[in-house]
Amino acid sequence: MSVLDSFRYHDLDALRVGRFDFGINTSFIVYRLRDTIVDTGPSNQWQYVKPFIESRPFSQLLLTHHHEDHSGNAGAIHRLTGVQPIAPAKTVEILARGFRIPPMQKIIWGSAGKADAAVLPDNVRIGGEAVTPIFTPGHAKDMTCYLLPERGWLFSADLYIANYLKLLRSDEHIPTLLDSIRTVLGHDFDVILCPHRGVVENGKQRLREKYDYLLNLAAQAQELAQQGMELEVITRRLLGKENLMSIVSRYNFSKRNLIVSCLQVDFSRYPLRQ
Ligand SMILES: [Zn+2]
Repeated sequence: MSVLDSFRYHDLDALRVGRFDFGINTSFIVYRLRDTIVDTGPSNQWQYVKPFIESRPFSQLLLTHHHEDHSGNAGAIHRLTGVQPIAPAKTVEILARGFRIPPMQKIIWGSAGKADAAVLPDNVRIGGEAVTPIFTPGHAKDMTCYLLPERGWLFSADLYIANYLKLLRSDEHIPTLLDSIRTVLGHDFDVILCPHRGVVENGKQRLREKYDYLLNLAAQAQELAQQGMELEVITRRLLGKENLMSIVSRYNFSKRNLIVSCLQVDFSRYPLRQ
């Protein structure tokens, strides 16, 4: 049932773990590039993450955001190796006080766990290469992607995952996410390193497709709403019936959340691409 896989891409090492093999949404990839580990994997996979961490020395642990699949082993890695995680200021704050996670996510990833992370320094480097942190809220209010401009690689956190979306968490916000995607598309990169999807070549093009998809979905949803159609009808028309995940999560992760958030897109600020 569980997922365990490792692969290499140029000088990048990757370990995929997960309790359930239900596709990319229930598995997670921990990346190691030269002296740096990016995100930690979930706490219920520690038995597999630990040997990966121990297999080679590293000196930096970089976190993208607080979600339990990304930060769940941060405290354990710190205790094991003495390497203190570094993270955006908001992530540091959330990890210090701890946070509650919905029951469904607890089943998939395990508990969240606190961590004593330090705020990102002004100058972040991976193996001597410059890193540009790009603040990208929308999926989570603290999320930051890490761009390596010299090689055109982007550690994309949960900004990409797929070039479409069918379900949205109740704490996600499409207008903010669109702003973040647009900010990232203002930079040059070719390769997305996604902790769920894996290595995505032509990454900028794929991310642009997601941006266009969300804008089109928002335009369609708003048109139907203007015709007086109700939320559930719009949702079914554009995305189909709610699936099992929506029901099990009590609509915390659902199609209707995505439509609600799409209805908040202000098209005077997000003009449709020609
Ligand atoms: Zn996340």
